[in-house]
Amino acid sequence: MGIAESKRVLVTGGAGFLGSHLCERLLADGHEVVCVDNLFTGAKRNILHLIGDPNFEFLRHDVTFPLYVEVDRIYNLACPASPIYYQVDPVQTTKTSVHGAINMLGLAKRVKARIFQASTSEVYGDPEIHPQPESYWGKVNPIGYRSCYDEGKRCAETLFFDYHRQHRLEIKVARIFNTYGPRMQLNDGRVVSNFIVQALKNEDLTVYGGGEQTRSFCYVDDLIEAFVRFMDSDAAFTGPVNLGNPGEFTIRELAETVIAMTGSRSKIVYRPLPSDDPRQRQPDIGLAREALGWAPTVALREGLAKTIPYFEALLRAA
Ligand code: NAD
Ligand code: UDP
Repeated sequence: MGIAESKRVLVTGGAGFLGSHLCERLLADGHEVVCVDNLFTGAKRNILHLIGDPNFEFLRHDVTFPLYVEVDRIYNLACPASPIYYQVDPVQTTKTSVHGAINMLGLAKRVKARIFQASTSEVYGDPEIHPQPESYWGKVNPIGYRSCYDEGKRCAETLFFDYHRQHRLEIKVARIFNTYGPRMQLNDGRVVSNFIVQALKNEDLTVYGGGEQTRSFCYVDDLIEAFVRFMDSDAAFTGPVNLGNPGEFTIRELAETVIAMTGSRSKIVYRPLPSDDPRQRQPDIGLAREALGWAPTVALREGLAKTIPYFEALLRAA
């Protein structure tokens, strides 16, 4: 990339799972990166290899407070994504999504930056339409245990579109479906990392409910490619756009696949289903295919084969 195209890019949540991969990709593309994170679920370990790069800067900061930096582009990823973590302090989770969005949108308005929002398939709640297109408005419980996350993200989408209409901000709203890969924490609590860690320790795999609920799992490299294409796309294309892998699996199938691929002695045990756990989830990615020329390339078994060695190394070091 030529120097003229090089941008100053802010990544909030940059020390998290997705954020750290994004920072790495942006540096490789020749950009300057300001990584902002309060390290709630992120870790310095995720970005240690980037510290020392003159184009990389880390700021420990909570996005619920205003931030003054000069940048050309903003990727707003700050928010705990795992249900067990976003439910630890649900008020802070809503504040992170809503006050965080207001602060980052205010910053974007002041410095005239294009701004990307990491929204989520959770805006569809427990969907009545399958697979979910962007035109579906969702079925979300406003007062349940997942609401701090789901409604926070929905309100953030509202703010993005109002700043776009009212203040002419260039926005990019991505609805991300379940994504996995290296740099998830050992105790992240989401299903792929839980199952791999349990299998590697020969502990029972905890399937919640009967394991018939479905999810569609995207490998991290595919998702980051979509982020970058979306940010670089025509200003008129605001989204929301679904980003994920349409390959759909039951949670029991995922457990069986992980046990087979790790050669584990683990068994499957069944635990109560958390409330409001969506029964099915599969992205309709027609819009992303058409507008971004993007589709995922890494199948589940292939992505798991890249992720399992990362957790093996983490467990050896623990
Ligand atoms: P993650 O928990 O690894 O990363 C989130 C990062 O945000 C962490 O580093 C955390 O410390 C930071 N953070 C949290 N609250 C903050 C605050 N108030 N101020 C500053 N930093 C804060 O999760 P992830 O999977 O990397 O998710 C990144 C983003 O993508 C989140 O916004 C999440 O909602 C969204 N998303 C992820 C998925 C997925 O499957 N991975 C799916 C849908 C949406
Ligand atoms: N799940 C499970 N066992 C676990 C962790 C999660 O069976 O150890 C289930 C969970 O109930 C849900 C699915 O796996 O149906 C995906 O959960 P995750 O927390 O990864 O993401 P989300 O529910 O937000 O899609």
